[in-house]
Amino acid sequence: MLNLICTADYELFFSKNNNPEEILIQPTDRLLKIFSKYQQPITLFADVCCILRLKELGDDFAFKMEEQLISAVRCGHDVQLHVHPHWLFADFNNGEWSFDKKYYKIQNLGFDRSETDIRKSGYALLKNAKKYLENLLTSVNPDYKCIAFRAGGWCIQPELEYTAALSELGITIDSSVIYGGKSMEEMNSHDFTDVPKGNYFFKDNIHIKINQSQGALYEVPVIGLTFPWNLVKFLHIRMLTPKKNHIFVKNMGNFVVGKNKKPLINKIISRYFSPLSLTFDAQIYEDNLHILNRYINKNSWSSAALISHPKIFCDGVYQEIDTFVKTVVDTYKNTIRLSLFNAAIVR
Ligand SMILES: [Zn+2]
Repeated sequence: MLNLICTADYELFFSKNNNPEEILIQPTDRLLKIFSKYQQPITLFADVCCILRLKELGDDFAFKMEEQLISAVRCGHDVQLHVHPHWLFADFNNGEWSFDKKYYKIQNLGFDRSETDIRKSGYALLKNAKKYLENLLTSVNPDYKCIAFRAGGWCIQPELEYTAALSELGITIDSSVIYGGKSMEEMNSHDFTDVPKGNYFFKDNIHIKINQSQGALYEVPVIGLTFPWNLVKFLHIRMLTPKKNHIFVKNMGNFVVGKNKKPLINKIISRYFSPLSLTFDAQIYEDNLHILNRYINKNSWSSAALISHPKIFCDGVYQEIDTFVKTVVDTYKNTIRLSLFNAAIVR
């Protein structure tokens, strides 16, 4: 039985958010309602640094985010920790956020245990962010615990100090790995091309790529199709069924600043290394099932994650999500269980 943990990165765009309610609250609400309709759980990875910064600047939208997180937990869904540290240093001018790229990776803050300022130590930041979620959410669920983590932009590497800090703080599960993915972009560089196949534990002082039978942090990667199947599927999607996928293209201009300025060679390399991930973002449900079929009934995989970003959802997405959840519940009930992270670790 594969525990499939459906997740949504609960976050705003880093640049412009013309109508934050429309960008985040409404799509998340529709997403939660679909899961609730089938009595299935979903996990929101809350971008806590964004909320903290908005609160600091007196922006009431932070309270709307908090309300939504509380309401999700009240309905039986889960909220876990997602961190984009650059928000702590972001400024809002002329309708747009600006931030310093050097704070995109938490590693650049170091992990000084004696420092209490969240802008000066990644350890202090993680500690406070975890405490923030627990304070917020134990009000609706006294048993609530922040146990899982996803680094912003897949930036878990270099992971040595990062994972030590996480496990020291009582976070037992990481979901920052996209299986087989690699990026050479300066801002969010990562390389998961030789991570173990399947779930694995890694200890705080042992490199993430070394397979351990047990340890402190358990990895639940986002799964997908890797080379050559990612390319085959990419061509299939772009060339044979463009109309079907066309409905999903919206808002992407704000998604990654400067995305299209990449040289062609980088585009080709990044396509080669980009797994076609299990996601609700811009994917028809059949493609997600196609990906899942490669991971079920495999001993090495007991838990896997699906990623999504409500901020980029457009109208066509919801029907795909609905059909996906319904199909998994009805047709895959003997092989896939939609779960939360507290059910992920199978020893
Ligand atoms: Zn994110």
